[in-house]
Amino acid sequence: MRILVTGGAGYIGSHAVKLLGRAGHDVWAYDNLVYGHRAAVPQGRLIEGDLHDRGLLERSLRERNIDAVMHFAAFAAVGESVADPAKYYRNNVVGSLSLLEAMRAADVKKIVFSSTTATYGVPEQVPITEAEKQRPINPYGYTKLVVEQALSDYTHAYGFGYAALRYFNASGASPDGDIGEDHTPETHLIPLVLQTALGQRERITIFGEDYPTPDGTCIRDYVHVDDLGSAHVMALERLAPGVELKLNLGTGRGYSVREVIDSCRKVTGRTINVVIGERRPGDPPELIADASLARRTLGWEPQYTTIDAIVATAWRWHNSHPRGYAV
Ligand code: UDP
Repeated sequence: MRILVTGGAGYIGSHAVKLLGRAGHDVWAYDNLVYGHRAAVPQGRLIEGDLHDRGLLERSLRERNIDAVMHFAAFAAVGESVADPAKYYRNNVVGSLSLLEAMRAADVKKIVFSSTTATYGVPEQVPITEAEKQRPINPYGYTKLVVEQALSDYTHAYGFGYAALRYFNASGASPDGDIGEDHTPETHLIPLVLQTALGQRERITIFGEDYPTPDGTCIRDYVHVDDLGSAHVMALERLAPGVELKLNLGTGRGYSVREVIDSCRKVTGRTINVVIGERRPGDPPELIADASLARRTLGWEPQYTTIDAIVATAWRWHNSHPRGYAV
């Protein structure tokens, strides 16, 4: 298939571009490089453009005879979305609607969308199934939920087919060590801990150790970025007019912040200094996926099932690219 990947120079998008290329698809990354990295995309496969440029989107879809879109392009910092919601609604919602209109004009009606656990807010039940009510607790989660709803409405009215894949904690890097996670500023746990292992940070702060969990720190379901990519490829193959897939993607196993830090110590063999800080506002104590629907629907099986296996790939990237994509 000929596939356009928005946000294809970003963390998860670039891994999807790589997997799609390997699977024999004709793949194009569409990215404005605000947060994406040119070096994360294979030579000659980047269309530098913005989601708000509907004309360029439409031309890109038409001229390359695109069959389907994977839509990763979004801002994803929860704290920033609280401080500056306009930025999030404009990029994530208005930008996505621009993409959907370009798709409608170019008669491209298959789309796999990056959604998130943040659409559930604080879940009533853990592990979280797709039956859990979607009640976001921050603007970021709302922007993703609005786009999920638009996709459903477009599917019923215009014959789209879509998958909304709700990621738990995307992590790790390509096992080849050539692409990986590089955010500025970095806010995610595993890269921050590995930067501490590299001596780039003096210590890692644990955000709260008084949660109602066995060791008092928050529990998350870390899912490898290539396992997310393979779920996208599988979902794409299921899409047809009227098809709606809403699927959680996680391993079903949770690790506490302390367990993640211990894994990083083990994998790197380095000293990692820790301090205990305040809770970070908006952090639910425990988020674990029930991803059985994705397994049943797609035949998806995550290949990275332990935190050590995930951290090992992340470490290969960070250790060989201590400054990320910067040269
Ligand atoms: N966390 C932490 N210290 C940090 C960054 C994150 O203790 O410097 C915790 C955070 O509170 C959460 C977990 O690590 O419980 C994962 O956070 P991350 O930001 O990586 O992902 P999120 O779960 O927010 O999507």
